[in-house]
Amino acid sequence: MSSRPLAALPKAHLHLHFTGSMRLASVLDLAGARDVRLPDALTRDWPPRLSGADERGWFRFQRLYDSARGVVQGEAAMRRVVREAAADDHAEGSGWLELQVDPTSYAAAVGGITPALEIVLDEARAVSREAEHGAPFAAVGIIVAASRTRHPLEARTLARLAAMNAGDEAGEVLGFGLSNDERRGETAQFAGAFDIARRAGLMLVPHAGELLGPAAVETAIASLAPDRIGHGVRSVEDPRVLEIVAEDGIALEVCPHSNLSLGVYRDPSQVPLRRLVDAGVTVALGADDPLLFGTRLVDQYELARSAGFTDAELADLARGSVRASRAPARIRQRLLTGIDAWLAAEPA
Ligand SMILES: [Zn+2]
Repeated sequence: MSSRPLAALPKAHLHLHFTGSMRLASVLDLAGARDVRLPDALTRDWPPRLSGADERGWFRFQRLYDSARGVVQGEAAMRRVVREAAADDHAEGSGWLELQVDPTSYAAAVGGITPALEIVLDEARAVSREAEHGAPFAAVGIIVAASRTRHPLEARTLARLAAMNAGDEAGEVLGFGLSNDERRGETAQFAGAFDIARRAGLMLVPHAGELLGPAAVETAIASLAPDRIGHGVRSVEDPRVLEIVAEDGIALEVCPHSNLSLGVYRDPSQVPLRRLVDAGVTVALGADDPLLFGTRLVDQYELARSAGFTDAELADLARGSVRASRAPARIRQRLLTGIDAWLAAEPA
């Protein structure tokens, strides 16, 4: 059995949410400083037992999320989230992180969505600069995500803000997403926001096909014309949709432990990694919300390994993550070269 260390495998991380990225210790620390009482699932019963199978399960997930978001108020806390996400990603072999944020959630404490996004971008620029000089951080680009549970006009406002900060470097807005409970909101109503983002040259990366099946993926493709899809795993339930995803070259940001935690699949062998890869779909593994799921990036690769992926196939997954990313050419090249070197080295 080969066993090259997965934390040493260079990779890009394309699906990680701002608050969901947080270290539990930092949540506790910030809560203490603000004298906020956290639910047991974020203290002595961590990680929480979740389910996304019904509205109640999702409501509980959202409530925990809200508790965590509640302690990330103010500039210093926001900067800390970006910095720690970049450090933790680096420790897992990620050289490029696309961090997803809905600035609405942090706006109140800093004077609006514009300063909220500015703070995140500024810290992303700072850690990325330090990373270029050898500091232990992944370089960080930002994806602005609107919430399906809010009015589509709010999504347009966010898309315009994202467009004003659009770029293809670390510390810039690279893409525009759509998150939160898939069962809420009507996907087609967000097409206007996605048009604004598209015209600004942003990557389009909505969530679809985790809590809902292949029809949701098909709708997202038809109405939003995405470059990548968050999750999308349930495409496999309809060969026709799977073929569209593969033919259109839409990469899927697959987060196996998120699927397991939310009860989409009961055990690791059900996560359809092999079927997606066999269908020719580019898969980029992501951690989604380590704070709530209790797993980070390397755990997703471990799951693939335990599902039978060889080191050569794991290297291919890592290559997929880099190719599906918006990483600048120099970072992309460095990561791809590193992946070759990882595979060329003798396993332990
Ligand atoms: Zn997500």
